[in-house]
Amino acid sequence: MKDFNLQGIGMTSRRTRDRLVGRLRDQGIADERVLDTIAAVPRHIFVDEALAHRAYEDSALPIGHGQTISQPYLVAAMTEAILSGDGGAPCRVLEIGTGSGYQTAILATLVEQVYTVERIGGLLQRARERLRALGVRNVRFNHGDGNLGWSEHSPFDAVMVTAGASHIPDAVMDQMADGAHLVIPVGKGDVKELKRLRKSGDAWRQETLDEVRFVPLVRGIAR
Ligand code: SAH
Repeated sequence: MKDFNLQGIGMTSRRTRDRLVGRLRDQGIADERVLDTIAAVPRHIFVDEALAHRAYEDSALPIGHGQTISQPYLVAAMTEAILSGDGGAPCRVLEIGTGSGYQTAILATLVEQVYTVERIGGLLQRARERLRALGVRNVRFNHGDGNLGWSEHSPFDAVMVTAGASHIPDAVMDQMADGAHLVIPVGKGDVKELKRLRKSGDAWRQETLDEVRFVPLVRGIAR
């Protein structure tokens, strides 16, 4: 497991994080790589200091700009969904919706290279600073509209969308490698279906993993 640089960022106790991991395990998260990573990444540095005491609860929390850091259970379930069950991990992963950067840090620990896209410049900047403080180096950041993917670095071995989409963006599907997985909350209403799609030649295999609520995937960029 990677050693994070935790100097000067007020590390909460390992025990607090282990309790969260215990709860995730009880809820059915089974991949030890994911559980170990959740135990290792300090979630409290991804929220405002005033909320840090709630960082190891299994809930979404506000991060400003009307956005939220995802609930740990969903971070774990979505991460598990893009790691293949046979112990292999995708190399190049596109994340759409950097937000706080917490999910980014989890992915960066488990895969070779993460490409992350966020439409709100202020959030992207803070996420970049947090990951730098943690000593995470295998992440490229893009202030852009994730509906367009990030063609320059495609094809991707896996794609994770961490905002609720009304439909699956075509550009993102086009930028996936053969055999790649896409995990995305998608649907018309407020409650989305968390779907996993696998690209296989021109065909797509689709499964529904859960029903979830997410902040919406919107168009365009903002400061
Ligand atoms: N994984 C993040 C989740 C943040 S919430 C975390 O745990 O912190 C979803 C994020 O998606 C928000 O930051 C929102 O600004 C971003 N988002 C919404 N639409 C987007 C788009 N079209 N392109 C890129 N990011 C988008």
